[in-house]
Amino acid sequence: MKIRVGLGFDVHQLEEGRDFWLGGVKLPSTKGATGHSDADVLIHAICDAILGAANLRDIGYHFSNTDSRWSGMDSKYFLKEVTRMVEEKGWKIGNVDCTICLEHPKVNPHIDHMKSVLAPLMHIDEDDISIKATTNEKLGYVGRDEGVNAYAVALIHRSA
Ligand code: MG
Repeated sequence: MKIRVGLGFDVHQLEEGRDFWLGGVKLPSTKGATGHSDADVLIHAICDAILGAANLRDIGYHFSNTDSRWSGMDSKYFLKEVTRMVEEKGWKIGNVDCTICLEHPKVNPHIDHMKSVLAPLMHIDEDDISIKATTNEKLGYVGRDEGVNAYAVALIHRSA
């Protein structure tokens, strides 16, 4: 069996009055992430981890932020497409491990919901997705509530 790992990172600004989509779930929050699509920083990091593992470039290469087709797009579509792309090359996703860096709101109460949304998009079990959350100890742009970061690693495998 051949295995590969990939790394993903993403960042988005936070703004008052925006919807906050994170891990495919809309969080209760006065601030939300800004971006060309729905700005789901966790899904974008996961997409890049999977694409990286399969050596398929990055999310901006496939879904450019200057392409009007992706304006306001639900990022769950990107993850579904990324899964299709790696499966087309014969890979299966093994597991994904992620960390979200954010001051507010608390992410932990929503993690099980995120896993239930994300697992079917990647054709894996909820137990194959780990989502962790940390604050940035009030340091830097995350600490000032100006932005949100996410990191992800993904393992993919195929028989030969
Ligand atoms: Mg992004």
